[in-house]
Amino acid sequence: MCRHLGWLGREVTVSSLVLDPPHSLRVQSYAPRRQRHGMMNADGWGVGFFDGATPRRWRSTAPLWGDVSFDSVAPALRSHCVVASVRSATVGMPIEISATAPFTDGRWLLAHNGAVDRAALPNPASAEPVCDSTILAELIFTRGLDALGEVIRQLGADDPNARLNILAANGSRLLATTWGDTLSVLRRDDGVVLASEPYDDDPNWEDVPDRHVVEVTADGVTFAELDPTKGP
Ligand code: GLN
Repeated sequence: MCRHLGWLGREVTVSSLVLDPPHSLRVQSYAPRRQRHGMMNADGWGVGFFDGATPRRWRSTAPLWGDVSFDSVAPALRSHCVVASVRSATVGMPIEISATAPFTDGRWLLAHNGAVDRAALPNPASAEPVCDSTILAELIFTRGLDALGEVIRQLGADDPNARLNILAANGSRLLATTWGDTLSVLRRDDGVVLASEPYDDDPNWEDVPDRHVVEVTADGVTFAELDPTKGP
């Protein structure tokens, strides 16, 4: 299971979200506190952020904890909307940049924390090992983010073992699902954080129940249950 983090709010530095907190994604890359699948996240990392309306990404297949270049530059990167992730590759998935979140369609940035059977995804017969998350991201982009809940419910029905925690942002909306793994929300005075696990011990972190969709906009945070008994 990977760990991911999203931000929507005032412009802040990327380092203040991803590197500086006591249990930041950098620390979660070697010592996550709530990870249920896998022990560490050493198979790469990605930070995506909106520069105005333009999504930009910096991804690597090396561990985040050892990236001194990113450590040097991150305090100078500022954004109002960020999607970042550290990766623990699922067995059989390639460790390469194309498999490293966040994924983008040019408008959205998207990360997947989990695993899903290739047979439940489009074109399951590919001869190459293709990362489940890469295909899942394409499927969600094709269906549109307004159908995110439907896509997750359908995949959850097709693959009962699937873990489908998604995090996506387009600069004005931050969306996340919980399906099989942890997610917490922190409402700050200057914005909202969604994260696989709290990056510090602030008592204001709230756990999001499983099988929910969370949406963050300038108007606030909403939660909706993903009812697995209802078809898409
Ligand atoms: N299945 C995805 C991958 O291999 C995500 C893994 C994860 O959440 N640890 O990258």
